[in-house]
Amino acid sequence: MAKKTANLAVISNNSFEAAKAVNLQHFDISSALQTTLAFNELIAIFCKKIENLIPHSAYVYSNPEFDLELKSGVFTQHYCNYALKVEQQQLGELKLTRHYRFSEADLKLLESLLCCLIYPLKNATLYQQALKMAYTDPLTQTNNRASFGDSVKREMSLATRGSKPLSVLFLDIDHFKSINDNYSHSCGDFALASVAKWIKENLRSSDLVFRFGGEEFVILLSDTDIEGANLLAERIRASIEHHTLAYDMNTIRITASVGVSSLRSDDTLDSFIHRADDAMYQAKRSGRNQVIIAA
Ligand code: GH3
Ligand code: MG
Ligand code: MG
Repeated sequence: MAKKTANLAVISNNSFEAAKAVNLQHFDISSALQTTLAFNELIAIFCKKIENLIPHSAYVYSNPEFDLELKSGVFTQHYCNYALKVEQQQLGELKLTRHYRFSEADLKLLESLLCCLIYPLKNATLYQQALKMAYTDPLTQTNNRASFGDSVKREMSLATRGSKPLSVLFLDIDHFKSINDNYSHSCGDFALASVAKWIKENLRSSDLVFRFGGEEFVILLSDTDIEGANLLAERIRASIEHHTLAYDMNTIRITASVGVSSLRSDDTLDSFIHRADDAMYQAKRSGRNQVIIAA
């Protein structure tokens, strides 16, 4: 058989202990993998360390839980593919390719080497899950306010260094208090989660959405100028307006007001953010359910 696909490497504690004893190569790989909790570094280190033992021209590591697909090298005809898992914890999939087939002996060796990767991957998964929880708003599954400062500073510095545009949207739900008052607080919660979902449906994967306050969201748009940001803001506003929320026997319509600003060369973090916030309040004063571009 020329190709081998979709092996499932299910590694138990026993096989890990057995593999640990195998030889110095395992020790060397395990030691190198202890230096990081970043998925990209773990996979790059592992593939580099095994390249003499299992020659390969490229690798792909995918992990849907963290929206990851890491690729490196030249993709060729033959491949082997391992779904990695330990103690019911999914750890992603690793695929190696090369221009000649993987023998049974290669695969057996690779499976034993993969034992070295499993626990570092598990540690990385636990660490990244904890980070994600610390930075995620549980109700809306958007980034929380605590993560906003670091993200906006990073995006501003990337935009400045790369001479790329950066825009921000401030979005506040209109008359949200009346949803709580008329239908219940849990209906308000449902409305918040729904609006977050509608916002996300309109974004690219590189855009970042934060729950900034109670019913206020901030959206950071990298590589987007003021015209692009205005178009997107209008699309999000229209999407919210055109959805209908069904709660118990009630149908509820929601609208939002949005302020837009783009980074200027003399901006500080505060001036960049406040311009969008001011524009959002202007949208409120002008009748709500509209987008205003900061002057
Ligand atoms: P405006 O159009 O001027 O923005 O009016 P508004 O009613 O949306 O704004 P206001 O600031 O008067 O009220 C915001 C409400 O949001 C009040 C608060 O109880 C509610 N709120 C904040 N956080 C949450 C939450 O997590 N869940 C629910 N259900 N309500 C929340
Ligand atoms: Mg509001
Ligand atoms: Mg508000």
